Amino acid sequence: MIQMNVFTREPECLIEKQIEAINRVIRSGSWILGKEVQEFEVEWASWCDSPYVVGVGNGMDALEIGLRALGIGDGDEVITTSMTAFATVLAIIRAGATPVLADIDSETAILAIESVARCVGPKTKAVIVVHLYGQAAPLKEYKEFCHSKGLFLIEDCAQAHGTSINGIKAGTAGIFGAWSFYPTKNLGTIGDAGAISTSDKDLAKKAGQLRNYGQSERFHHPQIGLNSRLDEIHAAILKVRLTFLKIWIVRRREIAQRYYTGILNPLVKLLKFPAAPNNHVYHLFVITSAMREQLSEYLKEKGIETLYHYPVPIHNQNPCKNLKTDPHGLLSAEKHASECLSLPCNPFLTNKEIDFVIYSVNKFNS
Ligand SMILES: *Cc1c(COP(=O)(O)O)cnc(C)c1O
Repeated sequence: MIQMNVFTREPECLIEKQIEAINRVIRSGSWILGKEVQEFEVEWASWCDSPYVVGVGNGMDALEIGLRALGIGDGDEVITTSMTAFATVLAIIRAGATPVLADIDSETAILAIESVARCVGPKTKAVIVVHLYGQAAPLKEYKEFCHSKGLFLIEDCAQAHGTSINGIKAGTAGIFGAWSFYPTKNLGTIGDAGAISTSDKDLAKKAGQLRNYGQSERFHHPQIGLNSRLDEIHAAILKVRLTFLKIWIVRRREIAQRYYTGILNPLVKLLKFPAAPNNHVYHLFVITSAMREQLSEYLKEKGIETLYHYPVPIHNQNPCKNLKTDPHGLLSAEKHASECLSLPCNPFLTNKEIDFVIYSVNKFNS
C-alpha cells in the first residue's frame, strides 16, 4: 500500500536520537515546563523568525489561547474559512466567540479576501487565515486588509511549517501564528503538541499564563486559563525532528514537482501552481475531480491510499449549521469539498511509488 503517512520508514538515526532525547527527559526528573520546552521555544522562534514562541498542548489550544490572550470572546465575531480542519472553528467557539464563515478561492482553496470583506460587521474582531495544505495565504493583502478594517490578523499555521510569501514567513504576519505539531504535520511529534508565535511581548506573556491555569506566579491566577502545556518529552522530540524539517520539505517539494509535471488526465485538475517555490510546503498534495469517489476507489484497488481534505465544509457540520456565512454563499468551498482528493505526499515515499501514483491517476478514465 502506498500510504498517506509512513512513519515506520523514518531513518534509524532519527529513531536513535529520539530515544536518547526521551532518556534524557526521564533522567532529568523535570517533566513539565522545564529546559526542553524553553529550548524548543527558542529554536522554533528562530526557525520561524518570530521573537516569541509559547509552547502549548496542541494546535487547537494555540488558537484558543491566542484568541483569549487578545481578549476575544463573548459577543465577538471571528471570520475564517469554511474549508479547514474543524479545529480552526472549534477554537473560536471554545474561546467563547462566534465564527463567521467565508468562501475560498477556487484555484487554491485558500480563504478569499473578497468573501471575508463581505463578512465584516460591527462585531468582527479578527480574521483567521489558514495556510491550507501548506500554501501560504496572501499575507501582504491580508495584513493591509485587516489593518484598514481595524481587525486582528491571525494565522492558522498548522499545515504551514516553513511556508513564506514575498519574504513574509508564515506565523509572522499576524498578531500571532498558531502551530500544531500533531504527528502528520510537516513538523510533528509522537503525540500532541502546539505553539503560538508572536512578536507581541504582552501577548506572549499572557499566553504563557493561560496555558498554565492563567497563573502569573505560583498559585496566583489573574486570568481564567487552561491546562495546555507543551510536555518536556514532546519538546525534546521536536528539537530532534526540527533538524530534519528542511530536508523533509525539500523532499515534499520534489514529490509535488513530480506530480505537477506527471499528472496529465483531463478528468483531474491540479490546484494552482505556486507563484514561487517557497510559497508551498506540501503538507498535502490535493487534486480535484468531478469523479473523485470513483478515482479514489480506483486508486485504492491499485494499492494507493487517498483522503479527502475536507469532505464536509464547516458550515455543513452539525454544530455550525446556524453560523453566519458570506451572504453570497460558500459555493467554491462546497464544490471543493465534493471534488478534492489528497494524494500520498510524504518525505518517505520513493520516486518509484510516486511514479506509480502518477501512472495510475493518468490511467483512470471513468
Ligand atoms: C491539525 C490542524 C489544527 C489542529 O491542530 P491539533 O494539534 O490537532 O489541535 C488546526 N488547524 C488546521 C488547519 C490543522 O490542520
